[in-house]
Amino acid sequence: MSTIDNLPPLREVIATHDLAARKSLGQNFLLDLNLTAKIARQAGDMADCDVLEIGPGPGGLTRGLLSEGARHVLAIEKDRRCLPALAEIADHYPGRLTVIEGDALEVDPLTHLTPPIRVAANLPYNVGTELLVRWLTPPEWPPFWQSLTLMFQREVAERIVATPGSKAYGRLAVLAQWRSDARIVLQLPPGAFTPPPKVSSSVVHLTALPEPRFPADPDVLSRVVAMAFNQRRKMLRSALKGAAPDIEDRLRAAGLSPTERAEQISLEGFCALAREIAKG
Ligand code: SAM
Repeated sequence: MSTIDNLPPLREVIATHDLAARKSLGQNFLLDLNLTAKIARQAGDMADCDVLEIGPGPGGLTRGLLSEGARHVLAIEKDRRCLPALAEIADHYPGRLTVIEGDALEVDPLTHLTPPIRVAANLPYNVGTELLVRWLTPPEWPPFWQSLTLMFQREVAERIVATPGSKAYGRLAVLAQWRSDARIVLQLPPGAFTPPPKVSSSVVHLTALPEPRFPADPDVLSRVVAMAFNQRRKMLRSALKGAAPDIEDRLRAAGLSPTERAEQISLEGFCALAREIAKG
């Protein structure tokens, strides 16, 4: 029996269900249930929330979320080999775990969720970044989620929380920090996972703000930031040449110098520029 519930330890679950990790699915499992409970606690109070978990695998984080009191967990897993192990967890917590077999990039989970909703996941890094960008750029704000608690490769986590002037500062930082509070809440060495990945990992917790920090049209902001950082070593006047014919005037009107580079521009500066460019 494990320390957080009366279910078998994860090594036993993996052996029973023959869940040898597959590299193609980015499977690096967390087997220490005290650690998964600790990650779950970073998601905040879940007693009155539905939690969307992507990529539950053998269920380590799922068990953490449930033992820490999540009202209901909806878990989306692509690897059908994991379903019997997840069904055992669902039996242990009647009515509190629903599992959908599918690709999180294709399944729409919202019809199965009741707000307020939190998201928690330990995902393969490529899928995690793509989902994060989608969750940060919904058609309307506030988004469906109250918070996101996500495992990333440390370098990606640092890009999410980066501030102007640092190498890690870029599109991801602007997107994330414009409409949410983003913090690194845990650092994990490769040895925390089975099998261990090559790099260290970090858990990032993002809380959705009710409104953007500074006003701007989301599409214009997104376009301007992408252009500026695509040529991050160039001065803004040349990196943004295609954004508006009189870009130097727009930059000055936004309080920016045409000779500055993208990585020096604050979130507030990018929003001011997006407003200037949106004037048409
Ligand atoms: N949450 C488990 C843990 O912490 O031990 C497993 C983490 S493992 C890094 C990533 C999990 O995501 C695997 O179970 C994998 O099968 C699943 N996965 C990979 N791509 C996915 C996708 N596109 N949609 C849903 N699940 C996916």
